[in-house]
Amino acid sequence: MSHVFDLHTHSTASDGALSPELLVEKASTVGIDTLALTDHDTVSGLAAAHSAAKKHDVTLINGIELSCLWNNKTIHIVGLNFKAENKTIIDATTHLNHLREERAIKIGEKLKKVGIENAYENAKRIAAGGTVTRQHFSTYLIENGNAKNQTDVFKRYLVNNKPGYASVEWPSLEETIAQINGAGGISVIAHPLRYKLTATKLRRLIKEFKEHGGKAIEVVTGHNQSNEIEMATAYAKRYDIAASVGSDFHSGNTPWSQLGNLAELPRGLTPVWELW
Ligand code: AMP
Ligand code: MN
Ligand code: MN
Ligand code: MN
Repeated sequence: MSHVFDLHTHSTASDGALSPELLVEKASTVGIDTLALTDHDTVSGLAAAHSAAKKHDVTLINGIELSCLWNNKTIHIVGLNFKAENKTIIDATTHLNHLREERAIKIGEKLKKVGIENAYENAKRIAAGGTVTRQHFSTYLIENGNAKNQTDVFKRYLVNNKPGYASVEWPSLEETIAQINGAGGISVIAHPLRYKLTATKLRRLIKEFKEHGGKAIEVVTGHNQSNEIEMATAYAKRYDIAASVGSDFHSGNTPWSQLGNLAELPRGLTPVWELW
């Protein structure tokens, strides 16, 4: 019997379009057996996702996507199968959401300087109680007519050296892995080929990640270009770490990251789910 896994997805608890309940329902509809909800820096969607998972006969794995800093770059670490009520994880999310709030205020101030009023208030309105992310600013800037689409808005406003960018002192990679491990979970480097790191730097990242107790990298993601699965497979083999599979689904509007529509994990790798 074949199993369909999707271990990287977002809900309205962060910057996804679907509520945890609707996400689980959709996962069930597209044939996913095992789903991880991995919202940015929060576990607040997990309880609702668990109830829905029971109803729809989906196995739900506790997940989170933690923002951290490595070598001055923001890296995303997916935590899987940890204890969601663990104090270390809860405290980490409180701290991260405080950092996000501070950054959101700064982004609002910066956008005001280029004549865009009330961006913070509107991003908060769109986030609707979920973790506030650049995605919510992006939605507002499109709504406000400042940019025509997501690619455009990120390029022109929300990245380094642009008017609506504010850096964040995220926790270190080491600390982040320790938090996930401390809660009994498994740390995974999310979308390793999306950080624009040189091959040398990416190898260093994976090596240090493993030395600090990291266990896997995402090999199959929703954004894979033709040769990326092969590249990530080679890294997983070279560093002898497990492999994960996740779409990074946010909404139906991004055709490259649809729920459950993922390539098979290449043979010869240890699937991350064999670790739990
Ligand atoms: P944050 O974690 O608040 O910095 O926001 C990052 C989120 O913004 C990512 O998880 C994506 O959902 C979205 N994002 C970042 N860069 C882009 C981009 N170039 N195009 C579309 N969405 C992006
Ligand atoms: Mn996101
Ligand atoms: Mn990410
Ligand atoms: Mn993600």
